[in-house]
Amino acid sequence: MRERRIERASGFILDMDGVLYLEDSPIEGASETVRKWREKGKKVIFLTNNSSLSRRMYVKKLSKMGIRADEREIITSAYMTALYLQRRCEETLLYVVGERGLREELKEAGLEMVGEEEAETATHVVVGIDRSFSYDKIAASLSALSRGAKLIATNPDPTYPTGRGLLPGAGAMVAAISKCSGKRPLIVGKPSLRMYEFALRILGMKPGEVVAVGDRVDLDIKPAKKLGMISVLVLSGVSGRDSPIPKEAYFPDYVVDRISDLEVNRWKR
Ligand SMILES: [Mg+2]
Repeated sequence: MRERRIERASGFILDMDGVLYLEDSPIEGASETVRKWREKGKKVIFLTNNSSLSRRMYVKKLSKMGIRADEREIITSAYMTALYLQRRCEETLLYVVGERGLREELKEAGLEMVGEEEAETATHVVVGIDRSFSYDKIAASLSALSRGAKLIATNPDPTYPTGRGLLPGAGAMVAAISKCSGKRPLIVGKPSLRMYEFALRILGMKPGEVVAVGDRVDLDIKPAKKLGMISVLVLSGVSGRDSPIPKEAYFPDYVVDRISDLEVNRWKR
């Protein structure tokens, strides 16, 4: 029985938007499922491309939904971007297009940021989702990039799922800035393998022992399959029953309506 692979898994890496919640509304059964996995001794990592909140803010958000999480179990594209830039040897000065959570992570990593007026002095332009995106921010980014700054994207998500349908994601902002500057971004979040590899290191597990759960084939399933993890596509977020069928190489190992369908106990007869 193929489901044994999930039952036997030691770790779970869970995408958040569309898997655990849609904006502030929890997805039915998500908290119970995570709790039951923990009771069985499974380790859980919460991992998101969404850079709008810091790890601390995600702990609070999850807790409001009845999901207990430690800051060390949360990996976000904002945090990964901060770690990536922190490891650069050269001096960095950042112009940031993004929200509070991203700034908080960059600040915590000891990175320096400049405002719009001094944007042209920046060494890196960091772009994440920004729901106050504007023409002035594109122009400030362009002034830095045309003077040699590097373009870093927290993630390329074109959209994110909400209860009211899809809304524009960071990829839309990255595209505008990339288009006018002619610069291709370095992408820190999924589908680059960085975040999943980091999660595996924290879990201390091999890819084959870990289940990756996500709602997007291109961003969640593709990198999971590349690394050899057990992959599960949920249909509670961006992907639906009418979504195009992915290429065979990226076909998820399991497709379920929602995360609670994976509850281990259900398979015990
Ligand atoms: Mg998602």
